[in-house]
Amino acid sequence: MKFENSLAFARSLDKQDSLKDYRKLFHIPKANGKEAIYLCGNSLGLQPKSVGQHLKVELEDWKNLGVEGHLHGKNPWLYYHHFFSKSISKLVGAKENEVVVMNQLTVNLNLMLISFYRPIGKRNKILIQANEFPSDYYAFEQQVKLHGLNPKDCIVEVLPRKGEVTLRTEDIVAKIEEHRDELALVMFSAVNYYTGQFFEIKKIADACCKHKIIFGVDLAHAIGNVELKLHEWNIDFATWCSYKYLNSGPGGVSGVFVNNYHAKNFSLPRLAGWWGNDEKTRFKMLKHFVPQAGAAGWQISNAPVLSMAAHKASLEIFDKAGMRALRKKSELLTGYLEFLLKSEVRSPRSEENFKIITPENSKHRGCQLSIQTKKNGKKLFEKITKAGVIADWREPDVIRVAPVPLYNIFEEVWKFANLLRD
Ligand SMILES: *Cc1c(COP(=O)(O)O)cnc(C)c1O
Repeated sequence: MKFENSLAFARSLDKQDSLKDYRKLFHIPKANGKEAIYLCGNSLGLQPKSVGQHLKVELEDWKNLGVEGHLHGKNPWLYYHHFFSKSISKLVGAKENEVVVMNQLTVNLNLMLISFYRPIGKRNKILIQANEFPSDYYAFEQQVKLHGLNPKDCIVEVLPRKGEVTLRTEDIVAKIEEHRDELALVMFSAVNYYTGQFFEIKKIADACCKHKIIFGVDLAHAIGNVELKLHEWNIDFATWCSYKYLNSGPGGVSGVFVNNYHAKNFSLPRLAGWWGNDEKTRFKMLKHFVPQAGAAGWQISNAPVLSMAAHKASLEIFDKAGMRALRKKSELLTGYLEFLLKSEVRSPRSEENFKIITPENSKHRGCQLSIQTKKNGKKLFEKITKAGVIADWREPDVIRVAPVPLYNIFEEVWKFANLLRD
């Protein structure tokens, strides 16, 4: 599509947008007394208006039924995690029994590492991307130490080439080949939180499969943002959070994917609790743990119903909109933002002021663009914040902006780009 830098053009894109009515389903935060330009859905997604109602149902059942809500509530709490199987399996491209909603992201990452990081002899290394999210890094480090090993020897990073910021698939694959006999695990964030790069997960998975190396992915910035096919791609396990693109509220519940290949491998070490036990015998209060087959067998505690109620409200919206349509709009919306930033809006000195470090090819990114500022970046960020933009600043010099197809519109993207220029 040939883009134009004008408010009228931005508005015409909004008019043609088949998802335009979804914005009305969300509460838009205010700044300076009017709707803020909210470009922070990669950090905390906005609240669906239906969340209040969903929460109210559970509060009422708790109020009126007490413990009976477990069996006789409108959404019986005992089965709450089952309510997500269908929506989540569609979002990540999995069979229903390959996913379960539980806990928080880093907790789940640790649970998965206990089962799937199994160092044996010299096969004891974890391969990760440079600039991985710190929480993940801390988990890798401690898990290595739990095995009595040294993180310095066991964590291998794929680095960008000199002068580059993002990673090349061929370099990732080459690194896997180089360490093929020493790798116990390859673990990648599918979309990097800092650069916005969406990695070629299938190609990395193929390289791992070839040498029977376990491959896990962190979908924190990928779920609800890009289309995923975890089962088809032969991913071993994955985990994500729901408060970013899935709009399920601060600290919202996480989830995991475990490939059916491992569904009945009960010899894998794992942490246990009654919710992961066979449902038929869970309440017999027996002594020995009998894990359920599939991802559900990694559960530990009973479901956090109040936070799950918000998740449920939000996933209904994804079910209706569908990832295919969302991604289509997303590519156009981010493409428009990129066009405005790169060409039209550029002041003669803008090259000196900022550069987009996110890949240009829309296949290699989600909705986020990371704008590297050259000087006075923090000041620029503070200025746009004052003017009503909610984005985020990542040290040392990056402004991350994420136009989200569910609730952001082309008009806002146009306004943001012009604000940045001014
Ligand atoms: C957001 C994010 C986290 C946050 O972890 P929590 O356990 O949800 O606090 C972890 N890892 C990545 C890659 C993230 O993007």
